[in-house]
Amino acid sequence: MRTSPDAPAVLPRTNWSGNVVFAPGRAARPTTLDELRTEVAAADRVRALGTGHSFNALAATEGLLVSVAGLPRVVEVDSAAQVVRVSAGTRFGELVGPLHDAGFALHNLGSLPHISVGGAVATGTHGSGVTNGTLASAVRALELVTADGELRRLSREQDGDRFDGCVVALGALGVVTTVELDVQPAYDVRQHVYERLPRQVLADRLDEVLGAGYSVSVFDDWRGGDVPQVWRRLRVTQDDEGGAGGAGDAPERWLGATRATGPRHPVPGLSGTVCTEQLGARGPWHARLPYFRLEFTPSSGDELQSEWFLRREDAPDALAALAGLQDAIAPVLHVGELRTIAAEPLWLSPSAGRDTVAVHFTWLRDEVAVLPVVRAVERCLAPFGARPHWAKLFATSAGELRERYDRYDDFVALVRELDPSGVFGNSVLERCFPDLASR
Ligand SMILES: Cc1cc2nc3c(=O)[nH]c(=O)nc-3n(C[C@H](O)[C@H](O)[C@H](O)COP(=O)(O)OP(=O)(O)OC[C@H]3O[C@@H](n4cnc5c(N)ncnc54)[C@H](O)[C@@H]3O)c2cc1C
Repeated sequence: MRTSPDAPAVLPRTNWSGNVVFAPGRAARPTTLDELRTEVAAADRVRALGTGHSFNALAATEGLLVSVAGLPRVVEVDSAAQVVRVSAGTRFGELVGPLHDAGFALHNLGSLPHISVGGAVATGTHGSGVTNGTLASAVRALELVTADGELRRLSREQDGDRFDGCVVALGALGVVTTVELDVQPAYDVRQHVYERLPRQVLADRLDEVLGAGYSVSVFDDWRGGDVPQVWRRLRVTQDDEGGAGGAGDAPERWLGATRATGPRHPVPGLSGTVCTEQLGARGPWHARLPYFRLEFTPSSGDELQSEWFLRREDAPDALAALAGLQDAIAPVLHVGELRTIAAEPLWLSPSAGRDTVAVHFTWLRDEVAVLPVVRAVERCLAPFGARPHWAKLFATSAGELRERYDRYDDFVALVRELDPSGVFGNSVLERCFPDLASR
């Protein structure tokens, strides 16, 4: 992206990391739906911007950059139907309070509450848990403004298989204004951090480690010694307070690792006090599932990220192959992480059709040093059909993406149908889906 000193001040000039500069021809933050519809209908090229937390130029455009954050805020819970309708510009951190107060919860959250619902859904953002789909898997319906300025509602119930193509849609179909999410009764979680898991245990018992809780994260330094941290988030229910999911599942020693005695941060050297509460303290789902608190800068703040998604059964071999790259990975790494995601039908979801292990890297903010390592990791994981995170750094070719997503061609056809003249296209989309460039 080029730097533009004239970029309108109405929206951020850069993404969260600062590695992408937004230089749109025009920026808008409409405050009414009609204003948004008029803006979209009048523009040749449009991209929606959420909170700008993506690490590549997926949200960028030289046309109209439009934020839905100024639209009227909606958080409507329908208790009988177990659904919440929420405006797409709402950050998860703003949604969870009213939802919890109404007695409900989401099935999962990502590592940080700072991102918008619309941006998370569009990119297949996920948390962890072998039975948990991406955050987008909870989407029951959505409303979006299409290229002609019309507002359409699409739903799981009415649009069936086609709906599965419209949820993780990378902003390519239109500007999403509201999303309806499945909810469930509120629940509590206890979070424990274990330190120094013997590496051989991770290699030999990967499924057991990753399945040791409702949501588990393995944080690794890729230096080949003991694995520094395993975060186990155990869901508490009335029936199993002392058993599965209760405090009884968190002994002082577990698989050779030791339970931490103070709050920890996943990035070595940073204070655990900015993180959600640990040490087994029982608390509501929204105060345990993300790692970072809304009021603090998440993660290191000075970083880039990449992530690749593997079939669960391929993970042990793929991780063994990646270990051969540890001398290249470790010097440019803040921290690495392993998580799980359940298979789901959404066409472009990272876990589309396959139970998944996600291999994440929080890199130093040095693209020159990091990009060759990104390419090396991709070469290493290519035989395993690894899918990249749409919102992070990757170099996977369009041909490889096509091989790795069964519904790739269906998605291209859907975009061509709903946006025949390519209003919602941009350079990242057209690199990943070259057939969309010819509209
Ligand atoms: C510190 C940090 C931690 C992270 N942790 C995780 C994690 O735990 N799990 C994970 O999977 N990812 C994670 N991410 C990545 C993050 O979830 C994605 O980048 C997500 O897309 C961010 O949402 P956003 O609102 O900032 O989207 P943006 O970056 O603003 O936009 C992303 C995409 O969504 C589209 N979009 C946004 N809003 C709309 C809308 N209303 N209508 C249509 N399209 C829209 C944009 O056009 C763009 O294509 C993390 C990122 C950071 C910076």
